[in-house]
Amino acid sequence: MRIIETIAEMRKLRRQSGLVCLVPTMGSLHQGHRRLIEAAAERGGLTVVSIFVNPLQFGLGEDYDLYPRDLAQDVAASRAAGADVVFAPAVSEIYPPGSEATRIELGPITQVLCGRTRPIHFSGVATVVAKLFHIVEPNFAFFGAKDAQQVAVIRRMVRDLNFDVDLVRVPTVREANGLACSSRNRYLTDQERERAGALRRALTAAQGLYARGERRQAALIAQVSAILKTADITPEYVEVRSWDGLTSLGDTLDESPALLALAAWMGKARLIDNVLLGADREEQAAVRDQSGEGPVARGQSVQRRG
Ligand code: AMP
Repeated sequence: MRIIETIAEMRKLRRQSGLVCLVPTMGSLHQGHRRLIEAAAERGGLTVVSIFVNPLQFGLGEDYDLYPRDLAQDVAASRAAGADVVFAPAVSEIYPPGSEATRIELGPITQVLCGRTRPIHFSGVATVVAKLFHIVEPNFAFFGAKDAQQVAVIRRMVRDLNFDVDLVRVPTVREANGLACSSRNRYLTDQERERAGALRRALTAAQGLYARGERRQAALIAQVSAILKTADITPEYVEVRSWDGLTSLGDTLDESPALLALAAWMGKARLIDNVLLGADREEQAAVRDQSGEGPVARGQSVQRRG
């Protein structure tokens, strides 16, 4: 496995390669990242894992300086999961002086849900992912379902700016109590980690209600809030939005795919999680993401370049 630190070297390798799969990460790799890398390696071709703690997506007072960094461990984890390349550029390589003012702005989709309290976050994410797409030119890029808004933002950017890349959305990997794996879980005490299992329980209870026919948003949200309350968790938000554009929906949901998402602070960690409403929606959404063109038959080839 190769470790590449410069854009020039990454581009050179890209030109010599056929199919390329990219897994963008900020390092501090855990089981969730591992699953993404395995999915990329299963797709075939050159599997590139980028490791870059992106300053543009951290707001003032957020944990940019504290964010865990351990390149040696991440290299070992990437290799074990099947990566061919770790692309780990320095901040000055990605953002040379004077370049920071150039940003990708996507409008309202970045200002709802997490964007309400993190107004610059998704512009920062979109900007670095656009740069990675230009540098690595992947055929497939892999993102985790845990970060549902991130997937929606990147999907929008890919469509609106005509990137020639297929997005693959990988289901969330969880700890034994249902808590979604996250680099930030290490900020939790043992007791907080245990209580945080309520996030998943609350979302799946609402998903169950939906499956039994409940379509009133208020009732679904009340179910989540009630379970969070039993664990003494006050959420930053619990919201239902359209799955694709994250637009607001009527008081009574129709049958189109919807996202039920939440964020909550537990001690020093801000945790997020979500479910898709409709038992079979998750699978449909995954298939749709891979094609970028609406529902397709399972197993249909989406191979393009390479
Ligand atoms: P991060 O390093 O936190 O920026 O995450 C890099 C990628 O890993 C993103 O696409 C995340 O959505 C994905 N990811 C993070 N946690 C998980 C998880 N628990 N399960 C699946 N994917 C995840």
